[in-house]
Amino acid sequence: MTGPVPREIPNWINNTPVPAESGEWFEKLRPADGQPLCQVARSGAADVAGAIVAAAAAQPAWAAKTAVERGDLIRAIALGMLERKEEIAEIVAQETGKSRSEARGETQAAIEMGFFVAGEGRRNYGKTTTATMPHRTVMTQRMPLGIAALIIASNTPIANVAWKAFPSMFCGNGSIMKPSEDTPVTAWIFAEICQQAGLPAGVFNVIQGLGSEAGSPLVASPQVDLVSFTGSCGTGASIQKVAGERLAKVCMELGGKNALVVCDDADLANAERWALASAFSNAGQRCAAASRVIVFDGVYESFRERLVSATRALKIGPGDDAFLGPVINERQLAAMVAAVDRAAAAGATIAVGGERLRGPEHAGGYYMAPTILENVHPDAEIAQQELFGPITILFRVRDFDEAVTVANNSSYGLTASIHTHNLHRAMEFANRVETGVVVVNGGTHGSEPHMGFGGVKNSGTGWREAGLEALDVYSDWKYINLIHNPMNT
Ligand code: NAD
Repeated sequence: MTGPVPREIPNWINNTPVPAESGEWFEKLRPADGQPLCQVARSGAADVAGAIVAAAAAQPAWAAKTAVERGDLIRAIALGMLERKEEIAEIVAQETGKSRSEARGETQAAIEMGFFVAGEGRRNYGKTTTATMPHRTVMTQRMPLGIAALIIASNTPIANVAWKAFPSMFCGNGSIMKPSEDTPVTAWIFAEICQQAGLPAGVFNVIQGLGSEAGSPLVASPQVDLVSFTGSCGTGASIQKVAGERLAKVCMELGGKNALVVCDDADLANAERWALASAFSNAGQRCAAASRVIVFDGVYESFRERLVSATRALKIGPGDDAFLGPVINERQLAAMVAAVDRAAAAGATIAVGGERLRGPEHAGGYYMAPTILENVHPDAEIAQQELFGPITILFRVRDFDEAVTVANNSSYGLTASIHTHNLHRAMEFANRVETGVVVVNGGTHGSEPHMGFGGVKNSGTGWREAGLEALDVYSDWKYINLIHNPMNT
């Protein structure tokens, strides 16, 4: 046992920890030093089938509870998380390598998501509307979907769990979560807290394992009514294809190549602060990371100088005072270094960083130096491909129109930010930038539990997670027509 992490992380089915039916485990390594953290159940189709049976058996009685009852249970889970906040944050820190303060912030956001969704128990509003026929009352009511597959990425593990688990449960579904193989422990502790809070067996289940072995059978199962997926575009496209064959509902929350624009009237100190945080915090492993920084010609040199020297001064983990820690695994790190090498070979200049950190304090860990590239064409591979690491590119533009053109030159459309004092410019940008979220004078990241979050273009399929909009993912609207005086219509 390493702190609160048990040696083995099993599946969680029917409120019971169970190993994979095959008896196989795989090893999860700590990104901070490459040392083993725990063994994880290596599940397959048989385990998925067991979880589906459990969810299907539990779902009708769960859906029959009132919204107030389901909200009360979700509040109890959020309170259970609050009680064990330090333990959860320690797990997040161990399995991702991020600092404890960052892990605590993420854990608090996940708890707040619980409280936000719990409050819906006392609202759960539908609509009433009019009709042409007299004596007819028409109203809408949210209905559960049935069985929901919740497949998530590793970057902010407990937030990723909460963003899907709470609204799915609240809407009355039986849920089966497939956490990332890189962050299995947060889903396990969340399931245990659910049980301790009194969630009935089978309402929330966890299948651990690799995407191709444990995720695929879940997506392919005809009993799964919804696939809610957060991850990369490549995986998302293949899941959409399989689920589309049987016309299942699919919610995709995918990648980003988000632009932060620095205008010539920007507060450069503020822009620098937010560019650093958006590009490099969480080691750049945010769908909303600022991986492109677009700077007006008039302030390019002064902004570049500030950003490069601030980047050089960043403390890179391990340690709780670090600004950023390692990336999640060796494979991702190798892909980042290779992408930077290819960009440099194609003519990009590396202003800072560009390599794996190998000093004694980083030995064994997966540390990518925070990297800034210049002289990159907006169409270049590195300007278009999401790297999901602490790598950003500086682009120099003549004016506002060119800034918008470069910002929109992406297959992604998740978030964007502009730094300016000019209100008209800010509003023009908000209107013209092709993203689901826009920020003025802040970072490209920073959504909150009550704010709908999601993207346009290849960043998603039109749904929003968090906010009340999340409930639309996990429920269907039913129109109910009451003709209360049929003899007189
Ligand atoms: P990934 O696509 O490799 O994996 C995501 C999840 O899918 C994992 O649990 C994985 O095991 C599973 N999976 C893989 N293959 C599967 C298959 N064939 N069938 C079913 N499941 C399968 O993504 P990742 O590298 O873990 O995460 C990074 C990506 O997630 C980035 O693109 C990032 O932008 C995106 N992301 C998006 C949001 C958002 O809200 N839009 C939030 C966080 C991360």
